[in-house]
Amino acid sequence: MTIAIIAHDGKKADMVGFIKDHLELLQQRQIKLIATGTTGAHVERAGLEVERMESGPYGGDAQIASRLVEHQVDMVLFFRDPLGKHPHEVDVNMLMRLCDVYNIPLATNPAAATRFMQTL
Ligand code: PGA
Repeated sequence: MTIAIIAHDGKKADMVGFIKDHLELLQQRQIKLIATGTTGAHVERAGLEVERMESGPYGGDAQIASRLVEHQVDMVLFFRDPLGKHPHEVDVNMLMRLCDVYNIPLATNPAAATRFMQTL
């Protein structure tokens, strides 16, 4: 099971709180984590191993989308900031569209991500 984690800057603190709340569950050996660059750095600091892509605005979301197309991602946790403006909005939309194309579970806020954890 591979889980992709992405957090916009305005939601990184929420994402770290989520990671800490689910640390033991996410430490299971069967779970592989991938993340965009800065998000991944936070995830590592919170105590988890993670494969880091480029930072989101530099193509990290696109890299995760590419993995997804290759059937290497089983779940996406995307802590989106609905109030911010993002230079890579087009990549974000692409990733979310591809989640729907490939029927990959996509959580876009902490409440949904928390529900998703109950399915692991
Ligand atoms: P970041 O990218 O983890 O490198 O900050 C996330 C994003 O904004 O898509």
